[in-house]
Amino acid sequence: MFLSGKRALVTGSTSGIGLAIARALAGEGAKVILNGFGDADAIAKLQEELGGAEYVNEDLTTTDGVEKLMAGAGAVDILVNNAGMQHVSPVQDFPPAKWDQIIALNLSAAFHTSRLAIPHMKQAGWGRIIATASAHSLVASPFKSAYVAAKHGIAGLTKVLALELAQDGITTNCISPGYVWTPLVENQIPDTMKSRGLTRDQVINDVLLKQQPTKQFVQPEEIAAIALFLCREEARNINGANYTVDGGWTVE
Ligand code: NAD
Repeated sequence: MFLSGKRALVTGSTSGIGLAIARALAGEGAKVILNGFGDADAIAKLQEELGGAEYVNEDLTTTDGVEKLMAGAGAVDILVNNAGMQHVSPVQDFPPAKWDQIIALNLSAAFHTSRLAIPHMKQAGWGRIIATASAHSLVASPFKSAYVAAKHGIAGLTKVLALELAQDGITTNCISPGYVWTPLVENQIPDTMKSRGLTRDQVINDVLLKQQPTKQFVQPEEIAAIALFLCREEARNINGANYTVDGGWTVE
């Protein structure tokens, strides 16, 4: 188990992609720190399933929340910035509070976790910083202004961290999934129906899967496999990359 002795914090790991990444890292022996919302009993079961994972429940839309998460998590060797949310609405109707929330969670939280995780990683001479970005870190879709802006920002932050930490044994990369069938995607269907005047089936086939040449949703485990690979020693020179896992959506 190549991650024995390593501590791995995965933000937003009570569901979807983050949970799949947490499972993959724990499967290789990492001590996982879970974060995210959810039913207390279900989370306790997850902790047990992952071999005694820790759980730090903080809301990452505030700097204070992120600082408390990092204090609760302690020193981490692997940081996966994954927590995210979506809101679908034309710009002129986009609630300003939603904009602030999405930028805070999908972008600023990753800056704060990174700045607080880096000192230990530098001292250890080893670290992995991985972000779940999105195809929307590379291309845009209408009605997703905050999400697309935040995800382009994550791709930029990844590049800066990659350059700043290149000589410290720390790599920084992001993974950009296309549509993955998780609550985040399912929950945006009603607003997309409203914004575009479409039925549920039309949203699934003519909006979501229309983007993916394979006509398949990506599975969370496919993203987890890349995250796990990035933690291997063989990946030590993969730095500043943006891995697309989108069935060809962003091919030019
Ligand atoms: P999800 O809704 O299944 O999981 C989101 C996780 O974030 C949950 O654990 C939730 O509790 C947590 N979370 C939400 N708000 C939070 C907050 N304020 N503070 C702390 N945790 C919070 O979503 P998912 O699809 O697994 O998304 C995970 C990441 O993948 C996100 O960054 C998302 O943008 C990205 N992504 C998803 C897709 C997709 O199609 N599902 C595609 C590309 C990128």
